[in-house]
Amino acid sequence: MRPPSACLFDLDGLLLDTEPLHARAWQAAAAHFGLELAAGRLLALRGRRRLECAQQVIAWMREAGVVAPSVAALLAVRQPIADALMPAARPMPGARQLVETLVQAEVPMALVTSSSRAAVALKAAPHPWLAAITSRVHGDDPELAAGKPEPDPYLLAARRLGVAASDCWAFEDSPAGARSASGAGCRVHVLLPQDDPITRIVLQQLPEGCELLQSLEAVTLG
Ligand SMILES: [Mg+2]
Repeated sequence: MRPPSACLFDLDGLLLDTEPLHARAWQAAAAHFGLELAAGRLLALRGRRRLECAQQVIAWMREAGVVAPSVAALLAVRQPIADALMPAARPMPGARQLVETLVQAEVPMALVTSSSRAAVALKAAPHPWLAAITSRVHGDDPELAAGKPEPDPYLLAARRLGVAASDCWAFEDSPAGARSASGAGCRVHVLLPQDDPITRIVLQQLPEGCELLQSLEAVTLG
């Protein structure tokens, strides 16, 4: 396997174990307005930008005949719940070691996240090792036309690093993120921890050609 020109990392559920926390925040916010969110729906929210998630939750509320709040009102309930949970997020196993190995090997890296700049600052603060990834595409990046699952975030990250997306390895955990990276032409590695109950659902929604990883500890540079 040819070594990558750059490694492009998703953040939530890939480098940091935030997905259970995001799910809890969406669940609590939806329940506040009278909608219970099941596991399949929580998965559909993974990897997407906050605004699009809120619009999706509101659409589900309307389908269910629940009186839906505005996007702003839903986010106003969710945000303090999420902000309180996120600083407790732990690194995914092997994440820190992989980033440090890539620093040593002088492989360029970028963060390609649907999270806003402010949300990333909050989540990354307890993890100084993330500072090694200086090139970042945020969900609210002014240069970003469309978020995941569109290819734009990965194309923008590759452009900023001055490399071809097809020479990059992308690391993702969500179907939306994997579709984004695959659409950009990256070699896509999808983290699918075996103990995650939704692994089977994720597998059915991945694009062709993804390589599956049980842990970041298993990554070798080829
Ligand atoms: Mg993710």
